[in-house]
Amino acid sequence: MGFFDDALNKTKDVLNVAYKKTDEVVTIEKQKFSIASLKSKREKDYADLGRIYYELVKESTEIDDNTRNLVDAISEKNEEIARLNEDIQNIKNKRVCPNCNANIDVNSTFCSNCGTKLD
Ligand SMILES: [Zn+2]
Repeated sequence: MGFFDDALNKTKDVLNVAYKKTDEVVTIEKQKFSIASLKSKREKDYADLGRIYYELVKESTEIDDNTRNLVDAISEKNEEIARLNEDIQNIKNKRVCPNCNANIDVNSTFCSNCGTKLD
């Protein structure tokens, strides 16, 4: 083997190592993606389990303080969400009188505040 053959083989070795490293990087990235995907699905499972457990224990008096605090925190948020949804519904059912700017029922023919006839 001459100088050029040696040089060529060394170059091939270097390239093979580089290809191998690239494969490893691709494999690691794929595995990282799989892990992230599994973690995301697991979070959903935890949340589903939490919902089932919440429904089971929300009225219970025999749960520990940590669980009671979480159950109460969820219940408070549920009530706040319901209240906000109700607000949205009320706003949707209202219009503003063009004469006095009062909030009036969307189906009114006359303003209940100033009596202006509405379109
Ligand atoms: Zn009015």
